[in-house]
Amino acid sequence: MMIVMKETATDEEVEAVVEKIERAGALAHRSKGARVTVIGAIGDVEQDITVESLGLEGEPGVDRVVPILKPYKLASAEITHGERSVLEIEGRKVGGENFALMAGPCTVESRDQMLETARVVRDAGASFLRGGAYKPRTSPYAFQGLGQEGLRLLAEAKSETGLPIVTELMDMRDLDAVLEVADVVQIGARNMQNYPLLAEIGRSGRPALLKRGLSSTLDELLMAAEYILKEGNRNVMLCERGIRTFETAYRFTLDLMAVPVLKELTHLPVIVDPSHAAGRRDLVTPLSLAAAAVGADGIIVEVHPKPEAAICDGPQALRAEDFASYAIAVEQAAQLAGKALSAV
Ligand code: PEP
Ligand code: MN
Repeated sequence: MMIVMKETATDEEVEAVVEKIERAGALAHRSKGARVTVIGAIGDVEQDITVESLGLEGEPGVDRVVPILKPYKLASAEITHGERSVLEIEGRKVGGENFALMAGPCTVESRDQMLETARVVRDAGASFLRGGAYKPRTSPYAFQGLGQEGLRLLAEAKSETGLPIVTELMDMRDLDAVLEVADVVQIGARNMQNYPLLAEIGRSGRPALLKRGLSSTLDELLMAAEYILKEGNRNVMLCERGIRTFETAYRFTLDLMAVPVLKELTHLPVIVDPSHAAGRRDLVTPLSLAAAAVGADGIIVEVHPKPEAAICDGPQALRAEDFASYAIAVEQAAQLAGKALSAV
């Protein structure tokens, strides 16, 4: 349930409510808005009775106590009273009026490939550099990523360009190594419901980009986000990357309706990945423009200096030489939705 404090509530009154919730063994989630503070009281199902019987109604500073109706609580738009979460990562803002452009190769292949791509996307105004060191491949015979060496190259690209790094974690055993480098830990579509992995990222506190599963509903995506949030990590962004439908003319169906609908359901930022949805370079720009115009908080897109020679996902990678004009077009589309490119 949600405890809405009065506009005049003092810090001490807020603290007293938080203490009461925590003493009952529940989680207290404070959200300080422009006008009022809202405290979410989240207990396990069996604990809800205890939370409800706390008798917070009428306590000093408390305006009203209302139930959270959704199955996800911390991810729900209700808990922030409609205010949007803005994450701040290495000085870049994600969410609200900010548009985050995340770009880079599918996978880290070599030092030259990584550094060249990093410079190109930095010069064009990208806010984050992506690149996979651990790759979820459909075939076990396909290239699985450079692993630790890939992480090292990402760190070098960051120190040279200053761009924060987005990279995927697939296996809990690589957690410490990934946390050494990742400013944002990507949870891939195939791991969206790997609950122990989600909880671990939650406990790490590191910003997470959670991709929607290939056949997952928005409710399932939000419940997955809840696993991260429940551990006290509020730095979660969601990512629509295309879902499986009956259509076979393209790889996945990019569900752009998910953007405005997620904004209704949650306060978390919503990023769109046009590359993996399309699987084809020619579709990436139009889908990116549509995503930006429909209100996405950012785009994560694949770029490669030589897509023909790419080890992984070359056909969908934007050519590095086209990236600057792509970034300008996307920025203009984002402006239609009232957003400006996020920068330091
Ligand atoms: C990726 O971003 O490189 C990737 C594998 O994406 P997804 O998990 O959406 O397939
Ligand atoms: Mn890829």
